Amino acid sequence: MPVRQHSRMKFALALFLVMLNTSLRADPATVAQNSRAWRVQHERDILAEFAALLSIPNLANDAPNIGRNAEAIRTICEKRGLVAKLLAIEGAPPVVVADLATPNAKRTVAFYAHYDGQPIDRSQWKSEPWKPVMRNQAGDDVDWRNAKSIDPEWRFFARSAGDDKAAIIAMLTALDALHSLALKPAVNLRFVFEGEEEAGSPHLADYLEKFPEMSHADAWVFCDGPVHQSRRMELVFGARGTVGLELTVYGPIKGLHDGHYGNWVANPIVRLTHLIDSMRDESGRILIKGFYDDVRESTASEKEALAKIPNVEGELRREFQIGATEGNGKPLNELLMLPGLNLRGIEAGHVGALASNTIPTEARASIDFRLVPDETPESIKPLVERHIAAQGFSIVRQTPDVAARLASGRIVKVEWGVGYPASRTPLDLPFSRELAAIMSAAGHEPVVLPTAGGSLPMDLFQHGGNVPVIAFPIANHDDNQHAANENMRLQNLWDGIEVFASFFSSLTNPKN
Ligand SMILES: [Zn+2]
Repeated sequence: MPVRQHSRMKFALALFLVMLNTSLRADPATVAQNSRAWRVQHERDILAEFAALLSIPNLANDAPNIGRNAEAIRTICEKRGLVAKLLAIEGAPPVVVADLATPNAKRTVAFYAHYDGQPIDRSQWKSEPWKPVMRNQAGDDVDWRNAKSIDPEWRFFARSAGDDKAAIIAMLTALDALHSLALKPAVNLRFVFEGEEEAGSPHLADYLEKFPEMSHADAWVFCDGPVHQSRRMELVFGARGTVGLELTVYGPIKGLHDGHYGNWVANPIVRLTHLIDSMRDESGRILIKGFYDDVRESTASEKEALAKIPNVEGELRREFQIGATEGNGKPLNELLMLPGLNLRGIEAGHVGALASNTIPTEARASIDFRLVPDETPESIKPLVERHIAAQGFSIVRQTPDVAARLASGRIVKVEWGVGYPASRTPLDLPFSRELAAIMSAAGHEPVVLPTAGGSLPMDLFQHGGNVPVIAFPIANHDDNQHAANENMRLQNLWDGIEVFASFFSSLTNPKN
């Protein structure tokens, strides 16, 4: 065959494949609309499955029940024809991994959620945390199983209703909607459900090491947390990292009469508060030398996204009852692009009825740092310790003995907690743009947040920054997550289902 003809045939074949691919690709608007129509016909079934899952207690340290959750999720996945398995590590809740392979797909998009929940304080709950109750907007219980119609403003009250079992139900129900529409995904879908996120994901890194195939995906969508306070859906392109720090400043070996010895024996509370003052000013600016050296400059598209975030700060100030904010008046989301030093607590001496005129023996502070790209716990630790030393302190790792106490006038014990770095996915990657475009076409134009203020171990899935990891939360912002009377507003669940259906059917096979 002449070369020319050969290449023409190759071109025709390529064109045919492109057309085939385009014809397979579903239109998000139609999918969302049809999924909605399907959902309206199946609301009671969806809620029954959700209620059954919410009825299983889900504290990460309650091994028998956490196992029942994992089994229940595996069953829900298998019902949809997914190949599901429970990965296990001794002493850790199982990770449920479920796959839906698409013939000839070149890419895998993975979806993450977690099935464990925060501990409960039963006295604060209006009803049993693991007996889901539906309530209307007035807060009255509703018999949803027998109601004539289901009001989208009703809310299911139960632990993990919003954080994070709603995400699991929304994803898997979206597959039902697609099935009813005879639509198939264009990419391989993978679902990963973790069972100890609320306990700080202590075994996630071990899982990824033992089962490296678990994190093999070309892109990740993390579904956890609430939507924007304006009620619009959002896409979040990163999370801040975190690391904890405990400081103990030592005074005299025994409490001393401050009348006899004050002004001569140093007070450890004063030493500690001056040290803290030297680390952070009142605007939130961290004063430690070099702390901002690794902070990545915001990109043009990040700046553009920040400027478009709806302003809810007036409402938040009223809700929190605060007259002013830190950060020299800069908007909240701009400040979340910066590292933070938060004082978690100070413990020293006594106050009120227990106060005594004494120079106390020690003063403790607990600090947590929030980190942004390209800082890491390892990169900031030496900066912090150099700063502490520059204030004249001798750093010790253990409680000092007599010799250590006599050798230095300023002793501080420094104890670092475990931590992990920040993660950030560029807003202008093809995958980033595709997710946002599908949502907009589906009628849910997202608020785009370059980063969340909180911390999620998204970096573990980024494989050195090469894999996009984007968060797409669905819960209502007022879902009381982590607190008593956690709830999920039904409209948020419904919206989640139609957006997932649009993602699954419309994601294509582009390069990142
Ligand atoms: Zn969560």
